[in-house]
Amino acid sequence: MPGTNRREFLTGSLASLGAVGIRYPTWALSTAPVASNSSPDQLLLGVDYYPDQTPEALWEEDARMIAEVGFTNVRIAEFAWALMEPVEGKFEFDWLHRAVQTLHKHNISVILGTPSAAPPPWLTVHYPEVVEVNAQGMRLRPGGRRFTCPTNQTYRRLSLAIASEMARTFAETPGVIGWQIDNELTLGSSPRCYCNFCQAGFQAWLHTKYGSLENLNRSWGTVFWSQTYTDFSQVPVPLPSGADANPGLALDYDRYQSYANSSFLEEQLTVLRKLCPKHFVTTNNVGLPLDTIDMRSLYGKLDFVAFDNYPGFFDMILHQQGKPGSLMSDVIPATVALGHDFARSIHGNKPFMIMEEQSGKAGQSTFSPQPEKGQVRLWTYQAVAHGAMGVNYFRWDTATFGAEEYWHGMLNHDRSKSPAFEEIRQTVKELKALGPEVLKSPYLAEMALVFDYDCSWAVKIQPGHYALSYTDQVTAWYGAISPSRSGIDVIGFGDDFGKYKIVFAPVVYVLSDAAAARIRSFVQNGGVFVTNFRLAVKNESSQIVQTPLPGPLRDVMGVTVAEYGPIYSGKQGVKFSSVLSGPDGECGIWADVLQASRAEVLGTYTSGSSAGRPAGTMNSFGQGKAIYIGADLTPPSLSRVLQKLAESAGVKRPFEVPAGVDLTVRMAGDKQWIFLLNHGPKPQSINIPRAFKDLATGAAVRGEVPLDGYGVRVLQASQLSRKITADTHPA
Ligand SMILES: [Zn+2]
Repeated sequence: MPGTNRREFLTGSLASLGAVGIRYPTWALSTAPVASNSSPDQLLLGVDYYPDQTPEALWEEDARMIAEVGFTNVRIAEFAWALMEPVEGKFEFDWLHRAVQTLHKHNISVILGTPSAAPPPWLTVHYPEVVEVNAQGMRLRPGGRRFTCPTNQTYRRLSLAIASEMARTFAETPGVIGWQIDNELTLGSSPRCYCNFCQAGFQAWLHTKYGSLENLNRSWGTVFWSQTYTDFSQVPVPLPSGADANPGLALDYDRYQSYANSSFLEEQLTVLRKLCPKHFVTTNNVGLPLDTIDMRSLYGKLDFVAFDNYPGFFDMILHQQGKPGSLMSDVIPATVALGHDFARSIHGNKPFMIMEEQSGKAGQSTFSPQPEKGQVRLWTYQAVAHGAMGVNYFRWDTATFGAEEYWHGMLNHDRSKSPAFEEIRQTVKELKALGPEVLKSPYLAEMALVFDYDCSWAVKIQPGHYALSYTDQVTAWYGAISPSRSGIDVIGFGDDFGKYKIVFAPVVYVLSDAAAARIRSFVQNGGVFVTNFRLAVKNESSQIVQTPLPGPLRDVMGVTVAEYGPIYSGKQGVKFSSVLSGPDGECGIWADVLQASRAEVLGTYTSGSSAGRPAGTMNSFGQGKAIYIGADLTPPSLSRVLQKLAESAGVKRPFEVPAGVDLTVRMAGDKQWIFLLNHGPKPQSINIPRAFKDLATGAAVRGEVPLDGYGVRVLQASQLSRKITADTHPA
């Protein structure tokens, strides 16, 4: 941003932050002297750097080169516990001070990571009980990372000690701007711990939650299999016991483990808030479809959400899991966009950060492919298009030792520049040109997709069909609702439904009274609610409701579930009524057979004893509509049906784009920016119905506009066409 001084930058960025209701972080208000060219430093465009793994003789060269790329920050030290505290209680931060100083000299700000994800060997030798026990009851061994128990008080005390000492040491250090607590909590080979400390923690948590054993026994139905507890100390954790665990106990254990990890983070947060009031605090995790920790709780008190993003690594993992075909042009963009939309929605449409963005081949024992030319830029823009305000690339250099030797950074093993080096430099330059007004602007969404942790965990405990997965359903629905991945917030039942035209919520297996009330009031007041099979089967205690399904929502949905069941070898089809007219659909793994009391039938089953009976319905309730899709529709029927419902709810896009292209809108005041992203290798042609300004060239564009393979365009709506969503969508 040449020519913009710090005051102008802050005024602009704080105005846009204020417009979306973001609390101004103290770091943004800091009046500490900054270099005259430092306005862009306040943007978080950086790289993850490991001075702890790099000879000090190279730090100066690294800092100079990092600055030359245009980066404004690095994240460092999140795995450096052993160097910072070589012996218990003996802290050595001189090296880290020198690293921060070297970076700051080149105007590189520093995000410090607290190191609790990888405790040093002295700790686990002195305190072997801190090591977690996995779901098979086996204690893990130190030697990797993320092998610790989230409940254990010794691990918590020592994690807090190193974090506190870091905070005291670096609170006033020039160049330090913020913190990342820990690293990717629960993301390891064993996302849950089942040790004795966790059992005691679980029992205490249950005591607080239920108050009395009578209440707990009733909620779980422990009379079944003679499991009535007469003392909280008798309650087990769901380790192998010869048969399946009580579903209520198992669901509460997922909730407890999520709580244990969040409260572990909160201990460090409390200290950082107290000792470093000028700094922002966040953590890094990966987004959906990972469901091992409730991200809404984890990020609830942090300044912003930061996620890690590795599209090529996802691709490799999905192939390893047997997913066929080329995934990089459809499945991966949808999965990544789902994660980005979730990240943005956690704090209610507030810009988020990518703390680790893939910059090269990635993997521990196997490599993902080298990103194609243009893909790293495309992935960066995909994050920005879906609401990111900052991006850090992983990582600066590539380790020549340790478990991540294959995880390539911007420098190769021999310190030559990686294939994506220049592309990243160019991308950073472009993002700086976009500036804070765009990067910190809110995102435009008229639709919402519900992701609910209770549903996800309860379906995992009792899927009903071996192939039924809540996260798969949510991911499939996300891809089906909008092939251009446009305008979807990913919300929970605790969020405000009122600002959306249509809310989608697949497999609402567990329904709380509060969630039922929210759905009821949303539809009553004119919203369109779309759901599918297994609606409201269970209450929050994971007991099956005693009323006909869908329990408390029967009047809202206007149906009763007459029969339900999995589909294994047989085939079942769906014939659509005129409202959803189109080719017959196929029913995948589940069929709820409906009995419509008041609702209009949208489709009927075609085979067996269910032939001719309702497979989908739409009910008018109050001012709105409630749609029940009883059949597990497979693509392409699912896409056709969900898109038709969105259209009839009045959802509009600025214009249509071909398959494989993302179209998203960010807006601030009367300004709107449209992002077009081509996820395929072949050029696409986009028909742009009215004049926009292409921000890369400054030229006006209209009509058939080319979009290169892996190409990106950012268009700005002119004042005259700013109401682009209102009048250009086909009827
Ligand atoms: Zn434990």
